Amino acid sequence: MRAFAEPLQVEDVADPQAPEDGAVVEVRATGVCRSDWHGWMGHDPAITLPHVPGHELAGVVAAVGPAVRGFAVGDRVTVPFCCGCGTCEPCRHGQTQLCDRDFQPGFTAWGSFAELVALPRADLNLVRLPDKLGFVEAASLGCRFMTAFAAVTEHGRVGAGDWVAVQGCGGVGLSALMIARALGAAVVAVDVDEATLDLARSLGAAHTIDARDPVDEIVDVTGGGAHVSLDALGSAATCANSIRCLRKRGRHVQVGLMLSDDRTAPIPMDRVIAYELSLHGVHGMAVGRYDALLRLVTSGAVDPGRLIGRTISLDEAGAELAAMTDFSQRGVSVVAL
Ligand SMILES: [Zn+2]
Ligand SMILES: [Zn+2]
Repeated sequence: MRAFAEPLQVEDVADPQAPEDGAVVEVRATGVCRSDWHGWMGHDPAITLPHVPGHELAGVVAAVGPAVRGFAVGDRVTVPFCCGCGTCEPCRHGQTQLCDRDFQPGFTAWGSFAELVALPRADLNLVRLPDKLGFVEAASLGCRFMTAFAAVTEHGRVGAGDWVAVQGCGGVGLSALMIARALGAAVVAVDVDEATLDLARSLGAAHTIDARDPVDEIVDVTGGGAHVSLDALGSAATCANSIRCLRKRGRHVQVGLMLSDDRTAPIPMDRVIAYELSLHGVHGMAVGRYDALLRLVTSGAVDPGRLIGRTISLDEAGAELAAMTDFSQRGVSVVAL
């Protein structure tokens, strides 16, 4: 990326070197994500040009630095999009997703729209892939699915019998739908697009509702409001709808990023008080939670492969980002190398 919002070029650049405590991973698959689109559009101040996007990667360790003990060349791995330093206070408490000195491939450094990517602190941040999980599927877990898992399990504390409303059924919303279903919850899927709602129904949504004015209908079909609602899009409107569709003592989880004019979106605090609601933000998932996520996936209780729209080549990644401008694509696109 040599300029924001201009077509991306595939170029030859120098191979990255493994940091002392890090690794170089040969990328086998890397997801194309709305966060990459925001970066490409110039919305992310962490990005300096020239740049290589890409943060949802799976691949094979190609080199390790001399201080690495737990990983070796040839290991099949993935990595959370937010890598921890291991020494700051959040990292010391296991919350690597909140690291004070976070490393985010494709944002704070060159990422995985490439044959090779360098990653720091490999013993902390690399995650070994189960043999039966393919690279394309593993790449699709690295951001949306992982964030949805944290949103539903840790923040939403969703349990069997709960009503869960999902506002916005893109990759993260549909991931949350599948995970909530696997935990025994009933899901109300909300979106503006009829084909997307069809997909949500095929993934087990109990009800699907048009997003333009969904609150009364959600309250109605859930018999008084959702126990948990996720704003999986990230906008002032979906955030407010998510809060207003909750029953008393319900939990709102803000999953979608709030950008530009929505950064300081108004919150219906009168309702938060009157219903004793709780509001949660989610910023990815701690690396230590990967074991639980991978157990859920390899158990067969959820099939993230259902969300993969298509696999594309590295040459096509730029056009795929551009297509996100008008929300024209469906499902998750993954670059396979
Ligand atoms: Zn840290
Ligand atoms: Zn992502």
